Amino acid sequence: MIHRIEPVCQTPLWQQSLANAFSDVDAFIEFLQLDKAILPAARAAAGLFGLKVPREFAQLINKGDPGDPLLRQVLPIGAENSPAPGFVCDPVGDLEKSIVPGVLHKYRGRLLLIAHGSCAVNCRYCFRRHYPYQEASAYRQRWTEALKHIHQAEEIDEIILSGGDPLTLSDGKLAELVSRLEAIPHLKRLRIHTRLPVVIPSRLTPELISLLTGGRLQPVLVLHINHPREISTELASSLIQLKQAGITLLNQSVLLKGVNDCPATLSALSLALFEAGILPYYLHLLDRVAGAAHFEVDMPEARQLQDALRVRLPGYLVPRMVREVAGAAAKQPVF
Ligand SMILES: *Cc1c(COP(=O)(O)O)cnc(C)c1O
Ligand code: SF4
Repeated sequence: MIHRIEPVCQTPLWQQSLANAFSDVDAFIEFLQLDKAILPAARAAAGLFGLKVPREFAQLINKGDPGDPLLRQVLPIGAENSPAPGFVCDPVGDLEKSIVPGVLHKYRGRLLLIAHGSCAVNCRYCFRRHYPYQEASAYRQRWTEALKHIHQAEEIDEIILSGGDPLTLSDGKLAELVSRLEAIPHLKRLRIHTRLPVVIPSRLTPELISLLTGGRLQPVLVLHINHPREISTELASSLIQLKQAGITLLNQSVLLKGVNDCPATLSALSLALFEAGILPYYLHLLDRVAGAAHFEVDMPEARQLQDALRVRLPGYLVPRMVREVAGAAAKQPVF
């Protein structure tokens, strides 16, 4: 028998990675061996929405390739600062729907709780790029208020932890929140939407797995993977453990110009997801958020991609193509 003595207050690896993420544009561009001519525009765009890229994700990016699909998702560029008609700050009308701060009760039966305002990575296309993180991140004092609302809304049987990224919470804080949710009798399912393990695979700790599987609520983990190269060997081997522990694994992607807007990439993504034990769930059309117009794929092209996927893939590997319409009772399918 091997006795291991663990230091008491060791910061978990993933939290160290979070703290060591690239946030300086110059250092990031240097690391990736990119042309320094892009620096002024990158610095200007990062001034509005900061650069944040964990090193694990940076290592997946091909060096010296300004068109790399993983890079495009995280590198601030000049195009973000050009206004585009129809692209606004709160495209999905989240702010007005937030009855209790940090709670989005838009759809029947399920309720979204902003468990934590920050993310491990700043995705340039994100609809939350103008979200008032400051307010949303006063999350913990507000859990009580949110939980009161959920207690009263008896029609809710599924709680969705979102953010930001809920997995930026430590396992201890998450456990505290989950146990408070478990005490609400009408809740049946716990769903977590996260991109964190994709950029820092070591986030999938054994503690997290037992926290998700050890309780009363049925666990669903919805990952956010946009490109097959984001499924690293490390991520895949951690995910297998979640799958074996009985956690339902789904994925949602965003359709992004220059990242995944071709049938070959999207079908490779679905196949790679399935190999890693994940089912494709949604393929979202871009929310029209100010600063992200250069990522938009137009509707006719999106439809063509959808048709191409149906031809190439078994039905269960074709993600549902949807878009978010402010005020609608569910995500709207794209036909
Ligand atoms: C997307 C979303 C959900 C979940 O919708 P599903 O179709 O169940 O995946 C729930 N609440 C809000 C506010 C959402 O934006
Ligand atoms: S991880 Fe998700 S919420 Fe966070 S910046 Fe990226 S897309 Fe937005």
